[in-house]
Amino acid sequence: MRFLVQKFGGTSVATPELRERAALRVAAARKEGYTPVVVVSAMGRKGEPYATDTLINFVRQVSRDIPAREMDLLMSCGEIISGVVMVATLEKMGYPAVLLTGAQAGIITDGNHNEARIVRVKPEKLLTHAREGKIVVVAGFQGISEDGEITTLGRGGSDTTAAALGVALNAEYVDIYTDVEGIMTADPRIVTDAVALEMVTYDEICQLAHEGAKVVHPRAVEIVMQKNIPLRVRSTFSDAPGTLVTNSGEVYKGTIDITRDRTITGITQIPNVVQFKVATGDGPDGLEQQRRLFKALALAGISLDFINVYPHQVVFTVKEDVSEKAAQVMENTGFNPEIRPGCAKVAAVGAGMTGVPGVMAAIVEAMTKENIPILQSNDSYTTIWVLVRREDMERAVRALHRRFINGG
Ligand code: ADP
Ligand code: MG
Repeated sequence: MRFLVQKFGGTSVATPELRERAALRVAAARKEGYTPVVVVSAMGRKGEPYATDTLINFVRQVSRDIPAREMDLLMSCGEIISGVVMVATLEKMGYPAVLLTGAQAGIITDGNHNEARIVRVKPEKLLTHAREGKIVVVAGFQGISEDGEITTLGRGGSDTTAAALGVALNAEYVDIYTDVEGIMTADPRIVTDAVALEMVTYDEICQLAHEGAKVVHPRAVEIVMQKNIPLRVRSTFSDAPGTLVTNSGEVYKGTIDITRDRTITGITQIPNVVQFKVATGDGPDGLEQQRRLFKALALAGISLDFINVYPHQVVFTVKEDVSEKAAQVMENTGFNPEIRPGCAKVAAVGAGMTGVPGVMAAIVEAMTKENIPILQSNDSYTTIWVLVRREDMERAVRALHRRFINGG
């Protein structure tokens, strides 16, 4: 059997019209000779009746202290409801279909409730139904632990379900259907003229996703790349070809690798970061203070970013949701940091920038032209980051997109 995994995100199954569109894509795959395996997310986003956030808010009205195990039982419902609706839609169109929960589909995870990791897949039941000619629909985002507990996979978990099934079934493709035309050169909510990338490498999309382009979950990419299963990100709403994600340097089925020609693949942003500047004194005592500071933060499990160490001080950022804890830890250790809340991290990502001179100069020039102060910067082989004020974030993303992608 030639398997094709088709994953439909929350916005792609939000209304009856969209679900019909999704079902038509499944039917089309079948006509092309594939055995489609459909993975669904919960229907719609926050506020809509069966969206996961809505279920969570509902129970939180009773208590804010719900055990992680019960949260998982609750959160697994959204995808099950969505799956039943998808089966009903397919059946109505004349396609026999069957829904499997994550557990029934053999998605075996560790026992880490709310953030479980898939450890293996036992697809026997799925294969039985597929052999009978049924379209198998799988509830995304959920699994079962070795000792029989229902778990969920964290944000973007349905992407991970699709990826794991793709590997287990040795699928020809894993198709991620969403509300945009593929992986774009920037978040289309910020850059209206962002364009869909025809092709990106696994590494590039991992990098983009880690830097804030949450269109596909990085864990899903890590899974498919182990077995070289190509992934496509496509729109449920249009017939655009979408983005092919595959191995670097590979000429995939007639497509030419165009990823080598570009310096910058995309611009990303992460809002809500907080900058800390900590005076540590200099000399041997200063070094000892710096050691104490980093150790205390590490012991508290706080991950730091944008770390710059100077003789007299240390500068770094943390995510806003842990900034209070970080400040507390520093105070308890005897430090008095200068805190700058309301920052954002903007990144230019591209494997092609390695060894290309002048990228940083171009970034500084673009920021200067827009009067955007750069609070900090950092770079690696494939990424250059700048820290800006939150209120400058959108303008910074647009400026870099103009400079590097739309030829400014
Ligand atoms: P789904 O519900 O289908 O899983 P997501 O919200 O997880 O959808 O991902 C799609 C969204 O990701 C888009 O609506 C878009 O706003 C956002 N996004 C952010 N950065 C990018 C990017 N570089 N390319 C495409 N989409 C992006
Ligand atoms: Mg998603």
